[in-house]
Amino acid sequence: MEANTSSNINLKKQYSQFGISGQVLDYCGGILENLKERFQSIDEIAEYNQLKVIHAMQECRVSEACLLGTTGYGYNDLGRDTLEKVYAKVFHTEDALVRPQITCGTHALALALMSNLRPGDELLSPVGKPYDTLEEVIGIRESKGSLKEYGITYRQVDLLDDGRFDYEAIRAAVNEKTKLVTIQRSKGYQTRPTLSVAAIGELISFIKQIKPDIICMVDNCYGEFVETIEPSDVGADMVVGSLIKNPGGGLAPIGGYITGRKDCVENAAYRLTSPGLGKEVGASLGVMTSFYQGLFLAPTVTASALKGAIFAANIYEKLGFPVIPNSTECRHDIIQAVTFGTPEGVIAFCQGIQAAASVDSHVTPEPWDMPGYDSQVIMAAGAFVSGSSIELSADGPIAPPYAVYFQGGLTWPHAKLGIMKSLQNLIDREIIFNLEVN
Ligand SMILES: *Cc1c(COP(=O)(O)O)cnc(C)c1O
Repeated sequence: MEANTSSNINLKKQYSQFGISGQVLDYCGGILENLKERFQSIDEIAEYNQLKVIHAMQECRVSEACLLGTTGYGYNDLGRDTLEKVYAKVFHTEDALVRPQITCGTHALALALMSNLRPGDELLSPVGKPYDTLEEVIGIRESKGSLKEYGITYRQVDLLDDGRFDYEAIRAAVNEKTKLVTIQRSKGYQTRPTLSVAAIGELISFIKQIKPDIICMVDNCYGEFVETIEPSDVGADMVVGSLIKNPGGGLAPIGGYITGRKDCVENAAYRLTSPGLGKEVGASLGVMTSFYQGLFLAPTVTASALKGAIFAANIYEKLGFPVIPNSTECRHDIIQAVTFGTPEGVIAFCQGIQAAASVDSHVTPEPWDMPGYDSQVIMAAGAFVSGSSIELSADGPIAPPYAVYFQGGLTWPHAKLGIMKSLQNLIDREIIFNLEVN
């Protein structure tokens, strides 16, 4: 009897159903040979974080009753209250707010800011421009309801050209009004490096030395479970993120979290619901199972997404396309950028990602005039949860330098399929001629 080794499983035939050639499969197989050690260390981080999550659930005595939802006011919602304890344990914080009523990452961040800042206070970003949507929250771009409208001012210190913190300028920017510092872990859609948790820790120590009572908040979007520690392990007072990214594990259909110091989380709760009510209300309806199970899956889902990002970086870098992060860099978030240099490259890549989806694989994304952007944008998102970017997804503005940003992949085989399909598309459309470049 033959052993059931990988060599006698006919993957070629499976991939050919997706139009992926033996040539692409072999090429990518060669790339993967060199990634074994990298993938092993990602699996170790996932293992560490998996144990962290399970242990937190056990310590908080998560029970079957926690999976049931409440309706109406949601007083004494055991599932919701226990889940918040679990988050607080996982992140090693005093308290947490984890709610379906927090609609997205931007909302979670806006909530954390608006509830902890008062008129006359100043907000400081020591890591350059924040994520696009926060420009309106802060009032960098005029917007109704912004912090600016409430008399909260904003200061920004850019990173130095080599990506390091500009400590001198940060010291000069902190003043008697500075109440809260916002630190974005992920580069988002910029070209600066993503910050490691250790680097965030150094920045927080520096800021606390200047003014100990400053609240240090970290925008943790796309960063959860990429490392074994989180920003709250290195001094952050508040860590904020979205459940339709890493910590929702692909299962949470909505939601955001704020975890951190008790007083900061309380402020956020009173703002989310109402003064006097705070964390006591907010029915969990039917989402608790997906929140718990999603958190349970989050470490391995994040690992799958990371493997996909590294796989793509290695493929496209070898073919001569600039990639950020590069093929060997240490990872601190799940986003990968690839610069194709032509609109056709961006379009072929995104259409390949879409064609590999389980949902909406038969639709072809096209560039369109998306509100809020100067140029057309193409987006690939065949997702179970609409707009979820922990699922394999990609987008790119149709403007120089013609780069795509992609992220996610609930499973490694799916991330692998999507990336190989993108490569096949680029070959079929004669954007790439030769798989042996460089
Ligand atoms: C996604 C993201 C946000 C905003 O989250 P949404 O859920 O899209 O509103 C904020 N900051 C960073 C770094 C992000 O990646």
